[in-house]
Amino acid sequence: MFNNLSDKLDKALHLLKGHGKITEVNVADTLKEVRRALLDADVNFKIAKDFTTRVKEKALGQDVLTTLNPGQLMVKLVKDELTELMGGETAGVNLTGSPTVILMAGLQGSGKTTFSGKLANYLKTKKTKQVLLVGADVYRPAAINQLQVVGEQIGVEVYAEIENKNPVEIAQNAIAYAKANGKNTVIIDTAGRLAIDEALMTEISNIHKAVTPQETLFVVDSMTGQDAVNTAKAFNDLLNFDGVVLTKLDGDTRGGAALTIKSVVNKPIKFIGTGEKMEAIDVFYPERMADRILG
Ligand code: GDP
Repeated sequence: MFNNLSDKLDKALHLLKGHGKITEVNVADTLKEVRRALLDADVNFKIAKDFTTRVKEKALGQDVLTTLNPGQLMVKLVKDELTELMGGETAGVNLTGSPTVILMAGLQGSGKTTFSGKLANYLKTKKTKQVLLVGADVYRPAAINQLQVVGEQIGVEVYAEIENKNPVEIAQNAIAYAKANGKNTVIIDTAGRLAIDEALMTEISNIHKAVTPQETLFVVDSMTGQDAVNTAKAFNDLLNFDGVVLTKLDGDTRGGAALTIKSVVNKPIKFIGTGEKMEAIDVFYPERMADRILG
C-alpha cells in the first residue's frame, strides 16, 4: 500500500538524519522532497504546499520537542500532519434508526456491491445486526445477481424486485419489508455509471430524499487518484454524504485519494476495502495509515 510514497518520504526524511540540529536550510531541503513525494502520489499542488508550510512552521517554531533529534522530529511532524490530512480522528457509523438505513453511492466499478456485502458481513458479525441488503440497480440484472451471490455467501437476505424499474419504490418497499421482518439494518446498493451523468445524479438524489438514510456512504476506487477526489466533490455537493469508503487499497495505488479527499469534501473516510473477499474491510484509522505510510 502506497509503496512509492513511503519510499520517497523515507528518502526525504533521511536527509535530516545525522544532522545535529534543525536549520532553515536542512528543513527546506527535506520539505522540498516531501512535497515532491506528495505530488508524485497525486496529491494536488495546493494541498501539498500547505502541508509542507505547516510542517515547516512547526519545525522552526520554538515549542518543538527538543528531546528528539532532527530526523525523529521531522518524522513525527510529518506523521502528525499526514494524520490530520486524513481526518485526525476515526469516524464511526451512525447505527441509530429503526431500521438504520445505509445508502451506497458511487460510480460503476467503484466497488459498491462488493462493499455492500462486506459492510453487511461486518455489521452482522461485529455488531450482531439483522441486515437486509437491497438491490436498487434497475439497469443491470447482473448487478442484482452479483448482490444475491454475495448475500448467499455471507448469509444475509437480499431484497430485490426484478420487474420493478423504479429504484425509489424498491428502496421504500425494502424498508417496509425490513420493518415487517425483523431486520434492523438496511443497506441499499444503487446503480452507478461509468462517469457522472445527470440521470444518475437525479436518481441517487431521489432515493436519498425518499429514504432519508442515517448514513450515506460514497464509495470510490482509490486507484483513480484525483478523479476520485473530483467525483467525491460532485457527489458531496449533491448528497452531502456522511463518509467515504476507499476501495482497492490493496492495489498499487499512489495514495492521492486517501490523502486529499478529507480536505476537499470535509467528510471522513470511514472504511477501506483491501481486497475482493468479504473479510477485506477495515475501519479507517488516520493515524495507523500515517504510520503505515511512514513505514
Ligand atoms: P460496483 O459496480 O460499484 O458495484 O463495483 P463492484 O462491487 O462490482 O466491484 C468492481 C470490481 O472491483 C469487482 O471485480 C470487485 O471484485 C473489485 N473490488 C471491489 N472492491 C475491491 C477491493 O477493495 N480490492 C480489490 N482488489 N478489488 C475490489
